[in-house]
Amino acid sequence: MDKKDIYKELKSKLDNKRYEHTLGVAHTAACLAMSEGIDTDKPFLAGLLHDCAKWMSDKEYIEYCKRYDIDVSDVEKANPPLLHAKVGADMAREIYGVTDEEILSSIRWHTTGHPDMNLMEEIIFVSDYIEPNRTHDPELPMIRREAFDDLHKATYHIYANTMKHLKSLAKTLDPMTEESYRYYERYR
Ligand code: FE
Ligand code: FE
Repeated sequence: MDKKDIYKELKSKLDNKRYEHTLGVAHTAACLAMSEGIDTDKPFLAGLLHDCAKWMSDKEYIEYCKRYDIDVSDVEKANPPLLHAKVGADMAREIYGVTDEEILSSIRWHTTGHPDMNLMEEIIFVSDYIEPNRTHDPELPMIRREAFDDLHKATYHIYANTMKHLKSLAKTLDPMTEESYRYYERYR
């Protein structure tokens, strides 16, 4: 799919707020790529597509995974929207025609991250949290500055705040979030 069709398809699938968020992540990812001294095209496209599946109902996520043989963990079964990362990576390949494995894995891992992410994965993980439309964390101004100064430290900070937030809501924690938090603690 060319760029114009990608924008059109995303706009037709996502609600306005999600679409604006998507553009925010794409632009933030390009800025972080510049700051890290790498090409901006792939991070931009990964940002654009990272939430491309975030429009399905719980039932649709489960059905999609069944149809296309995508593993569903117990945590995901209890909270199907978590699947938008895995489903999104699949749709990026099958519908949007992305073949680049770095782009696909940064979509795949954007929600929980994982220990020792590669640069693209980390850029998308951080961009999703700090893009300009976000307001959910009072420490965002500090984390945004950190992201351009020390990406690993910003990643640690995001995990620390996410853990605190999820625990305060007594929400189920994806074990990968906790494992990644432990890993990134070395950069605190
Ligand atoms: Fe997402
Ligand atoms: Fe997102």
